[in-house]
Amino acid sequence: AGIVNFCANNYLGLSSHPEVIRAAVEALEKFGAGLSSVRFICGTQSIHKDLEEKIARFHHREDAILYASCFDANAGIFEALLTPEDAVLSDELNHASIIDGIRLCKANKYRYKHMDMQDLEAKLQEAQKHRLRLVATDGAFSMDGDIAPLREICQLAQKYDALVFIDECHATGFLGPNGRGTDELLGVMDKVTIINSTLGKALGGAAGGYTTGPKPLIDLLRQRSRPYLFSNSLPPAVVGCASKALDLLMESNAIAQSMAAKTQRFRSKMTAAGFTISGKDHPICPVMLGDARLAAVMAEDMLNRGIYVIGFSYPVVPKGKARIRVQISAVHSDEDIDRCVEAFTEVGRKHGALP
Ligand code: PLP
Repeated sequence: AGIVNFCANNYLGLSSHPEVIRAAVEALEKFGAGLSSVRFICGTQSIHKDLEEKIARFHHREDAILYASCFDANAGIFEALLTPEDAVLSDELNHASIIDGIRLCKANKYRYKHMDMQDLEAKLQEAQKHRLRLVATDGAFSMDGDIAPLREICQLAQKYDALVFIDECHATGFLGPNGRGTDELLGVMDKVTIINSTLGKALGGAAGGYTTGPKPLIDLLRQRSRPYLFSNSLPPAVVGCASKALDLLMESNAIAQSMAAKTQRFRSKMTAAGFTISGKDHPICPVMLGDARLAAVMAEDMLNRGIYVIGFSYPVVPKGKARIRVQISAVHSDEDIDRCVEAFTEVGRKHGALP
């Protein structure tokens, strides 16, 4: 029956969608293989401007700026925005690219305990002495599939006069009633100031990242953000993919709903089988095993049964919290999901993870 991939960030299956592939080919033929330039020299074509406009419209924001990746978007924002008089408050489990981006800036740095609102409030109180405060968090955390408490974060931000930044790499396109992301899911689209996200996961899976938010901020990034200023433009085929992916998502949320139903199927069947799945309702479904060796041998045995999953252990996750991270996609069939659950049950029994 072949091998089914359960470890890609291809949440909506758009990387193999025929219309997305066709859009890439058309963009390649019409606009060429690449620009051989950064954006501000001769690297801007109509499709780059159109995609930026479309991203801003998708997120209900004023403007957007493209990068070669979300890693670059995260590397380029903090240094451009914050000065030594400012402060940034970051969740301790934020993605490596946020951590690196913060390292590059000269603002005062505060790290709050993962999703701990008491700790964030204490750090916001401490940070009142600074000119400007920015709270930075992943919208959805990729190791645990848990979702940042954005409502509470935004309330605290309002109370202590702070801006809110979210990284939506594992949310854009599928979280919330219309797939706009964590801010839509939690009803705070008008309270989150800055969104960074990727074109390399749910939105076609090719490459690319962006920042979207208030126009003056995007103007500032175009002037000052180093990965934007000093790195090549996104290739037209990549722009074509992402642009078509956004069209599909703005026309209908059927693909996102199908993925959500399959996530629910997987999570409930695995829980009924006796496994512990971290997070809630997210297509990242970490099967918690504890022991690093158990996670590795189970993942290997899953592959022997045609299911491609990967075990994660220390230092990628804390000691004693090894897991196999399963990621559900809209392109999985119900039969694929059931086959995956059956394989987990067999392999789990064999290795003592289940009674
Ligand atoms: N932020 C988060 C939360 C991610 O998971 C990733 C990718 O793994 C990135 C940023 C970087 O995205 P990109 O692959 O577009 O550089």
